[in-house]
Amino acid sequence: MKMIRDDFPILTVTENDKPLIYLDNAATTSKPLQVLRAVEAYYRHDNANPHRGVYELAARATKAHEDSRTKVAEFLNASPDEIIFTQNTTESLNLIAYSYGMEFLGEGDEIVLSVAEHHSNLVPWQRVAKRTGAKLVYLYPDSKGHLTEEELNQKITSRTRLVAVGHVSNVLGIEIPVSSIVRLAHQNGAVVVLDCAQSAPHMQVDVKRLDVDFAAFSGHKLYGPMGIGVLYGRKELLEKMPPFLTGGDMIGSVHEQNSTYAEVPRRFEAGTRNVGGEVGLAAAIDYLQSIGWENIKAHERELMTRALEGLAKIPHVTVYGDLSPDKRHGVISFNVEDVHPHDTATLLDADGITVRAGHHCAQPLMEYLKINACVRVSFAVYNTAEEVEAFLNSLRQVRRWMGFGSESTL
Ligand code: PMP
Repeated sequence: MKMIRDDFPILTVTENDKPLIYLDNAATTSKPLQVLRAVEAYYRHDNANPHRGVYELAARATKAHEDSRTKVAEFLNASPDEIIFTQNTTESLNLIAYSYGMEFLGEGDEIVLSVAEHHSNLVPWQRVAKRTGAKLVYLYPDSKGHLTEEELNQKITSRTRLVAVGHVSNVLGIEIPVSSIVRLAHQNGAVVVLDCAQSAPHMQVDVKRLDVDFAAFSGHKLYGPMGIGVLYGRKELLEKMPPFLTGGDMIGSVHEQNSTYAEVPRRFEAGTRNVGGEVGLAAAIDYLQSIGWENIKAHERELMTRALEGLAKIPHVTVYGDLSPDKRHGVISFNVEDVHPHDTATLLDADGITVRAGHHCAQPLMEYLKINACVRVSFAVYNTAEEVEAFLNSLRQVRRWMGFGSESTL
């Protein structure tokens, strides 16, 4: 663990004059030296506009761009021409909504979402529904945060044309039953969009094994740079989709009155690419793979178990979703009775502990849980058991700090 922490220079900064305990990894992760160095090396030695120049430097930039695509394709078990670079998960999901949803959905078709969706996988589908006359149908989790077979059977029907769901909720941290969803959706002729923003950092996302039609994730939540995201799309679907953004580099030929478009994936990559970000993402994937999924999962499970057990023992704390770590990945959300989540987060910050408080871009889920907001703690490979203990110790004091009596009454 010490070795891993040494890879992340930002972990040595102070927060409110205390050693930083960074527990907001679901918002964005810190970046290891391996990523920082790869980005710097690209800009120092290989920077040019890919696919543009005929000179050697531009050829190197093009190679860096295409090698990064191949790396991402291997990471997801897809083919390179099924990988589109975007800015982030949000842009990837909008691309599907505009180029697939707006084109292929119509009046009366049903789009199935979970009420736990991040706004990025919800607002674009509201736009599609408004424009096309399609209807949004919501899946509701049970009291432990799980989507039951009964709920899936009821909502995914012959009217369903598209199911768009988050693989792991950014609030509940719970993994959804992807195989049942895909089976039902495909039986009914619907496509499945999987938002992997919160799963890709914690588990292998094998798009072929999962058999999903589209998948999206962000580099910055996976130890890579900000501003680089990925969309996976099944080739035969991408090939029939029109472009999302148009302009330079996505064309076949352009004439005064009309244009033809490039083959996929370039059809969906208009304008100058973020090659530095792509190279950084490829380095982040190498970094994750050098640690290995088994080690990552075992370590994060230990942190999760410790945190869930500790939280369960603190009176006046409500944790949302199943308390078992089995189906949880990276994220725990909770509230302290009578304390506003922003106050809890601010008090923890005074101890150097950074957590997120708010609606977490999941307002329909907040409404479903009958809360306005909550506190979220989220883990990454570099977090330690000592950090989890420090967080729990600090949290035990929160109600006392807020003036609710002595610590012993907590
Ligand atoms: N989906 C989920 C489940 C998320 O947690 C997030 C980020 N909080 C997003 C989508 C959007 O990611 P980005 O802001 O990187 O586009």
